[in-house]
Amino acid sequence: MVRIMLKLGCHVGMSGKEMMLGSVKDAVRFGANTFMLYTGAPQNTKRKDISELRIKEAQELMKKHGIEEFVVHAPYIINLANSVKAETFEIAVEFLELELARTKAMGSATLVLHPGSHVGEGVKAGVEQIAKGINEVLTRDTKVYIALETMAGKGSEIGRSFEELAMIYDKVLYNDKLRVCFDTCHTSDAGCDIIHDFDGVMERFDRLIGKEQIAVFHMNDSKNIPGAAKDRHENFGFGKIGFDALMYIMTHKDFTEIPKILETPYIPDPENPKKSYEPYKHEIAMIREGVFHPAMREDVVAEAKHTV
Ligand code: FE
Ligand code: FE
Ligand code: ZN
Repeated sequence: MVRIMLKLGCHVGMSGKEMMLGSVKDAVRFGANTFMLYTGAPQNTKRKDISELRIKEAQELMKKHGIEEFVVHAPYIINLANSVKAETFEIAVEFLELELARTKAMGSATLVLHPGSHVGEGVKAGVEQIAKGINEVLTRDTKVYIALETMAGKGSEIGRSFEELAMIYDKVLYNDKLRVCFDTCHTSDAGCDIIHDFDGVMERFDRLIGKEQIAVFHMNDSKNIPGAAKDRHENFGFGKIGFDALMYIMTHKDFTEIPKILETPYIPDPENPKKSYEPYKHEIAMIREGVFHPAMREDVVAEAKHTV
């Protein structure tokens, strides 16, 4: 069995009493050597004070397990692109500023951000608004990168093409503080042929933005065919992108040092639709082995039921 050295992990939460310590414990439990966390519920902006995040203990546990790097994801509800409701935009800007501070305090260099949805005002107005928001929070001394995520293009999402991300770069003053989070489900859904021609896609990305700008990969399979603009993630190798195409990206020589993060769905219990189980331990082991296990999801359910 060939063990491939990968910087591989998954998204984890940060909640309860353990906060960031709990996030790291999850990552360790899954066999991850990097991870991505949300600083609270991804759907809302309720957050604890930095002093309550148990950062020091978390960092010690990271060190013990050789986890050198992790990324933070801003909540989905931040919509910098909203040029209609001033309040939504202002809340987004304020929250982004706090997320940058939390990201730095926790010791991460990268905050992943969905650029936002223009809610009917058009790409140009949306991009304008996103850049305005980012320009309000970034200073010459900002120590954290904002990684703009490539989006699937559902609804009025901005970031469905590399051109749209490049437009944001063009309008941000300190754009040396910008990076990109490349989501495989999203780019495929947006119509990029990462299945047969990842290198061609990258060539185009490199021309428009620069491939060294990629700070993190979201390694998700997709439930939908390329160009579907749907954004529904599937377990690694179980969707329309498939194991081989995802592994090609996973092991690509240009990105060996870049963290690869799974945001794949929980496995539903076939006997109890209300229950579902985390796939990450099995998924990470499968990827590290480099061999597709068609029964991986059954294994996840079986193991979860025995250990309950
Ligand atoms: Fe995301
Ligand atoms: Fe993503
Ligand atoms: Zn997604």
